[in-house]
Amino acid sequence: MPEGDSLHRAAQRLQLLVGEAVEVETPHPRAAVKGLAGRLDGRRLERVEAVGKNLLLHFEGGLVLRSHLRMKGRWRVEARGAARVGKPWLVLRGAEHEAVLWNGPVLELARDRGRPAHLGPDILAQPPDLDSMLTRFRAQPQTREVGDAVLDQRVVAGIGNMWKAEALWDARVSPWRALGDVSDEELRALLKTAAKLMHGRLDGARPLRHAYRRVGRACHRCGAVIRSYPQGENARIAYWCPGCQKGGRQPKA
Ligand SMILES: [Zn+2]
Repeated sequence: MPEGDSLHRAAQRLQLLVGEAVEVETPHPRAAVKGLAGRLDGRRLERVEAVGKNLLLHFEGGLVLRSHLRMKGRWRVEARGAARVGKPWLVLRGAEHEAVLWNGPVLELARDRGRPAHLGPDILAQPPDLDSMLTRFRAQPQTREVGDAVLDQRVVAGIGNMWKAEALWDARVSPWRALGDVSDEELRALLKTAAKLMHGRLDGARPLRHAYRRVGRACHRCGAVIRSYPQGENARIAYWCPGCQKGGRQPKA
């Protein structure tokens, strides 16, 4: 699953094409039917930004292409004319570089109306708007589990499953605790850690993982065995240390 930070990296790479009038192709038949090439070809790419889990490409004339990568989507930036096998969804070709979207299940063109209203504040904003995130956490049912709420893009945009696990571990908060049982200070610490870890990754750091996909291995902090269990409506897998992330209704081992 592309996390918020990988979208920000894609947005960084795509800056190479900003300012250029781009040639646009949609080799994949499922993209071709959207008629994007005809509407975008030759327009200047004015701005590219990652907002939550969306990549927004702003073209001259107020057109915005929204790309959501879901599980398998990838943006790559290559030299113009690079050889490739297969049919990408979209190719944006500039004088020297081309941006290529593979497996982009969500691709839609809209008039620029700014940021989608339903998204929460972006965790990677500098600084992140922690007050506004906190307000949104407190507007949720306070029986909701914190590990579920932190993935809700309407509460805070951009935190994916890996950063959820790592930030909860770092803040010593069990994903199974009810929001009403988690203090404002703990929520702030959790959000600050998520932002710090994600920015580190943007800068190229590869931090040691403490919880995510470490089931059955010893906790780096207390030595207890890391567990996993599906959580929330979408049954995303939560990872936590029952030794130092206590509390909440932890599933039976
Ligand atoms: Zn532990």
